[in-house]
Amino acid sequence: MTIDQTPPSLQGSCHCGAVRITLPSAPEKATDCNCSVCRRLAGLWAYYEFGTVLVEGHPGNTDEYIWGDRTLRTVRCKTCGVATHWEPLEHQPGQKHGVNLRNFDPMLLQSVQVRKFDGADTWTFID
Ligand SMILES: [Zn+2]
Repeated sequence: MTIDQTPPSLQGSCHCGAVRITLPSAPEKATDCNCSVCRRLAGLWAYYEFGTVLVEGHPGNTDEYIWGDRTLRTVRCKTCGVATHWEPLEHQPGQKHGVNLRNFDPMLLQSVQVRKFDGADTWTFID
């Protein structure tokens, strides 16, 4: 038996391909959040510094959702509806960018530590 050592691609896309995302590095951790939006989206979020993630087809092919304290927008494909990422409304240095890893090769997730985050209530990790 041979083992394929080719690392999984850092490029992902929504289901229809209209929004394409390239990560600056392989994610090591991801957050599974239970807040009122995330539990519906079933997103698995990896965080990067804003500006380091290449997002093609956005905002031309996307719609956005802004709620609550209005600090970030959740972005989805206008055509297939898949949530691709979230980004800060104000693009200041040090802001975070959340990328939905569900849009990537499942192989990429095998080495990722998934942490459960209680965004619904305590705002702490609960694992
Ligand atoms: Zn799409």
